[in-house]
Amino acid sequence: MKNPFNLNLLLSINVQEFSLDTSEIVYQINNIQYPIDLGKVGDIYNIYCWGDVKAYIGEGNKQKRVCRFCDKKTPTVTFNHNAHAISVSLGNKLLFCNEECDDCNHERFSEIEQEFINAHLILYSLFRKKGRNGILNVSGKNINIDNKNTNGSIEIKNDIDINTLIKSKNQNFKIQEPLLKYSPQNLYKCLCKFAVSVIDKKHLKRLSETIRWLGSDCTKTTLPPIWVRTCEMHDQPLIGIFVKKENANSTLPEFVIQLNILNIQYLYAFPFVDDNEAMLSESSKSELENLFGLSMYFEVDFSSNIKLPVNLLFNIEIPENAEFITISKSEFETLSDKERETKYPNISGFCINNNA
Ligand SMILES: [Zn+2]
Repeated sequence: MKNPFNLNLLLSINVQEFSLDTSEIVYQINNIQYPIDLGKVGDIYNIYCWGDVKAYIGEGNKQKRVCRFCDKKTPTVTFNHNAHAISVSLGNKLLFCNEECDDCNHERFSEIEQEFINAHLILYSLFRKKGRNGILNVSGKNINIDNKNTNGSIEIKNDIDINTLIKSKNQNFKIQEPLLKYSPQNLYKCLCKFAVSVIDKKHLKRLSETIRWLGSDCTKTTLPPIWVRTCEMHDQPLIGIFVKKENANSTLPEFVIQLNILNIQYLYAFPFVDDNEAMLSESSKSELENLFGLSMYFEVDFSSNIKLPVNLLFNIEIPENAEFITISKSEFETLSDKERETKYPNISGFCINNNA
């Protein structure tokens, strides 16, 4: 079953996060691990993993480098800056691609990388992970997360009927953040860009159509699905590339990529290999299922080229003894977190009366 891409599956937040001034904020996240049987996969694929140690991928000598993305070399382009193989904002401190020129690094991919960050920014902020400039805040139209001045207080500008919430003890509500936009196809391009940055250069020729697509405005109407699931937490992204063995008799994709960022795991294939579009037949899907356990993932269609706002589904659970109190908007805003805590000890949350 295909789902439109959103981050619904990833968040389950306990209402206690909304209580103010807790010295330690604990996010209750669906932290599930699904082991993969590497033995079975290893019969068909050679597996290459990056992210556990520092690595500079590709040609060391700048004079000999050819950019993987634009195919240009010195002196037409320069290689003065270290290019992160996976964006630094996603926590990557270890993986660099020697073969990305300064133009591609600074200009060409900024849009797709920014959209990829947009789609994940709220999670990075909730988990209090550091980007290039410290722990990330979110200041959106519908959600603010303040990690700099507070202990990660989350402000959700969403009308919730507190009585319904208390009665049901458990409620999901959806937040759309229109200031964080992305197109699913650009996310797919970005996922492929990360993989092209680390793959052995001997495979680049087979990926020329994928590289052309991800580096241009060109969009495709259909792309293979991507599989997403939650996994254990990764502060440093971890990327694995499965390269099909030459003698493997199989309809499986030539390359399968597994990317772990935060508690999300993406499993995907390059959409174009050699001259073929890698659309997955039913038989190759069932082979993938057999090898990678696809039923444990959500299958997501990333082919849309429409810019979408980020969607988040919050699940609020009210503990048995939780207490809420209604105060005026002006009082809520005048008091600091600490003052509120002192004035109203043991209160789980505040209902704001806008009219008082
Ligand atoms: Zn380049």
